[in-house]
Amino acid sequence: MCGIVGYIGHRDAFPILIKGLKRLEYRGYDSAGVALLNGSLEIYKKQGKVSALEESIEGSPLKTTVGMGHTRWATHGEPNDTNAHPHYSHSTDYAIIHNGIIENYGSLKKELGKKGYKFRSDTDTEVLITFIEDIINEYDCSLEEGVRIALSKVVGAYAIVVMSTKDETKLVAARKGSPLVIGVGQGEYFLASDATPIIEYTNEVVYLNDEEVAVLTREGLEIKDFEALSQTPYIHTLDLALESIEKSGYEHFMLKEIFEQPNSIADCMRGRLKAADGHLVLGGIRDYTNALINAEKIIFVACGTSWHSCLVAEYIIEELCRIPVEVEYASEFRYRNPIINEGDIVFAVSQSGETADTLAAMELAKSKGAILFGIVNVVGSSIARTSHEGAYLHAGPEIGVASTKAFTAQLVVLTMIALKMSHLRGTIAERRYHEMLVDLERIPDKVATVLKQAKKVEEIAYIFKEAHNFLYLGRGLNFPVALEGALKLKEISYIHAEGYPAAEMKHGPIALIDENMPVVVIATRDKSYDKIVSNIQEVKARKGKVIAVVTEGDALIPKMADYIIEVPDTKDAFMPMVSVIPLQLLSYYIAVMRGCNVDQPRNLAKSVTVE
Ligand code: GLU
Repeated sequence: MCGIVGYIGHRDAFPILIKGLKRLEYRGYDSAGVALLNGSLEIYKKQGKVSALEESIEGSPLKTTVGMGHTRWATHGEPNDTNAHPHYSHSTDYAIIHNGIIENYGSLKKELGKKGYKFRSDTDTEVLITFIEDIINEYDCSLEEGVRIALSKVVGAYAIVVMSTKDETKLVAARKGSPLVIGVGQGEYFLASDATPIIEYTNEVVYLNDEEVAVLTREGLEIKDFEALSQTPYIHTLDLALESIEKSGYEHFMLKEIFEQPNSIADCMRGRLKAADGHLVLGGIRDYTNALINAEKIIFVACGTSWHSCLVAEYIIEELCRIPVEVEYASEFRYRNPIINEGDIVFAVSQSGETADTLAAMELAKSKGAILFGIVNVVGSSIARTSHEGAYLHAGPEIGVASTKAFTAQLVVLTMIALKMSHLRGTIAERRYHEMLVDLERIPDKVATVLKQAKKVEEIAYIFKEAHNFLYLGRGLNFPVALEGALKLKEISYIHAEGYPAAEMKHGPIALIDENMPVVVIATRDKSYDKIVSNIQEVKARKGKVIAVVTEGDALIPKMADYIIEVPDTKDAFMPMVSVIPLQLLSYYIAVMRGCNVDQPRNLAKSVTVE
């Protein structure tokens, strides 16, 4: 959560920082601020979006070639101008931007208070920069030494950048548990929470590791660990096009990403699947193939939308591979004492690859000897680096806060893994395997067919845009789709929505149904078709309004439902990749019609790097 940018070099820093903050705004948008250093250390900050910050700056900001900026996702202290980052230290000689939480900030604040330090904000961040200042004063040490010593006494997860009037030639950055990427240019360096603010200047990046402190000057980059041992920076070359992080004519990133799905799904399969030759290879899963073949149990850890894709994977792996699967919320898993044995398989699934709870769950599983597979979209992210092996989604950058194309790419990758495992384990008949590969390859076209109905979905959205509640029902593989549809609607339109297994409706939610309740039923033709037809009748008997997602050519449900959206037929296992598309569109159009900020819904942030 929160976006961090920094620059030191020869260009005007302010425009670079503002542009970078706009690219990172999906990570947090409670407030924005920049600090500029040139003779004096000037901070400009404002509650709200980056555009509010720009408007609030009167005259021209300090001209300089070194600075840093922040978009906040508040954890400690309400979102207002004072709590916005950057924060000065007590003396105002130092400034900090921070992503994450300093857990022991309360006791540090008390101690610093006793020494006479005063605080302007309610944040944990201001306590940290004051603590760093106190250490520098006490040890009479450099900025980087002060940062290193302070961080060795701090509990929590963070990425920070600090600067000081005492030494204007450097930016000091450090991380533990929150991402930080350094862009390497010619006589200039960039810092950011992810690569999106950097790629228009350089494609050479260094991912800072946990418990490392980096010093960036115009002359070079120095990295030390928390023990003060020098580390050699490893430079990665990024393969990321600028167009992929721009809206390309769409009104919102979310709409662009929904419409990108035929391509993103094809990209996800590219080089991995060729049905005609029976070719299915996931390059990132090689050395641990035997562990997958012999697995006795598989555990998935994830949060949010990724957790829903894991539920789909549970159905598919159990069906095809006959291996028991557990799907866990990472935030719950990490705080109980889960039973994990040496060699157990744990899959961690996350779009950003930075989800704090998922990372912590992985660390726990690793400490118990599990083999970790990471399924992430962001190349080089923390989860990718913590895993033994894994597979990237290759869906391209996802910027809309509500996940769409990453969800379908997760389904594709997890399905490919399930198919591969079942083939290797011999639990799938050869003919069925080949038929499935052929059908999987057709998914991008089927998704494109669904997208052609966007207008129809928009009309349905118009009818229900004022609803206060929605119920989403599905059975089998379409139950996680119901959960995902409800989550999308909640996230971006703020309408209360619940996803339920259709049969469970009778154990509670049916009491909510009356003529005002829209009920979205994912009722594609699969083995529970007859059952879901009965569920639709139960809803209609109570005057609920049924919006049904059905298989093309269905003659029965259109007679009962109030509105229908058709999707092409496919194998049951692949239906979620197709049936979720109308639900993404429905939530998008409803949210736009209600005037909601679709790409930056209130209280949410794209990458949840705090627990
Ligand atoms: N804990 C800090 C605050 O509340 C940083 C939050 C963030 O990651 O944006 O200001």
